[in-house]
Amino acid sequence: MTSKGLIDLVHLYPREMSIYGDLGNTRCLAQRIRRHGYDVHVHDHHPGSTLPDTPALLMGGGGQDSGQSRVEDDLAMIADRLRGLAADGVPMIMICGMYQLFGNAFITVDGAELPGLGILDVTTRGNEKRMIGGVVLETEFGEVVGFENHSGSTVLATGQAPFGRVRSGNGNNGSDGTEGAVRHHVVGSYLHGPILPVNPRLADHLIARAAEVATGRAFEPGDLDDTLADQARVRQVRRLLAA
Ligand code: GLN
Repeated sequence: MTSKGLIDLVHLYPREMSIYGDLGNTRCLAQRIRRHGYDVHVHDHHPGSTLPDTPALLMGGGGQDSGQSRVEDDLAMIADRLRGLAADGVPMIMICGMYQLFGNAFITVDGAELPGLGILDVTTRGNEKRMIGGVVLETEFGEVVGFENHSGSTVLATGQAPFGRVRSGNGNNGSDGTEGAVRHHVVGSYLHGPILPVNPRLADHLIARAAEVATGRAFEPGDLDDTLADQARVRQVRRLLAA
C-alpha cells in the first residue's frame, strides 16, 4: 500500500523526561500512525540536539524535579520554536513534568523557580504532599483514564481551558475539579499510564491533526480495531469509580 504521507514525531527528552511508561505514548502514536497508513519518523530530542525542520507531532513525558532542571537550558533554547509550532496548530501531548514546564512556571517545594514556556496559562507549585493514584476524567474525547503521581499543584489562569473534569482522583490540584489544560492543539495532563494506548480516541485526535499539518490534507483514517484498549479502559474506569 502506498503511504498517505510522512509524519515527523518528536519525543522531547526521552532520557530525562519519560517515567511511568510515558515512552509508551510515543510507541503508541508511531504504531497507530503506521496502522492508519502513514509513514512516521520518530526523532528523539536530547539536550543539545536540533529539532527537525517539520515536526508534525510532539510528545513530552514526566520526570523528577531534577530531570526538569536538566532540560531547562535546552528548553529555553528551543522555546521560541515550540511557541511558534504551538501557535501554528501543531499537536502536542505533554505529560506531568513537561506539562508543568509548558506552563508559566514551576516553583519546586524547595522554592526554586523553573520558568516555563507559557504555552499553557497555568502555574505549578510543589507541595510536601504527593497526589498519587488512578484518575478518571470526563473530556471532549470521552472518558479518559490514567494514573497520576505528582507533588506539583497546578492552577489554571482565568480563561485557560482544562483538559478534563475529574470524576475520580486529584487532577491539577485536588480541589477545583480540573485536570490538565488545552490550548491550540496542545494537551497538557498529569496522566501517566501511559495515557494514549488505553485512550485511543485522544491518540487519534492528535494523529488526525498531525496528518493535516504534515500533508496539508484532511486525515484519512485506517480501520483500527480498538476492542482490547476499550475493554482495558472500561474496566479501569469501573474499578476506580466503584472504589
Ligand atoms: N516533579 C514533578 C512533580 O512531582 C513532576 C512529576 C512527574 O512528572 N511525575 O510534581
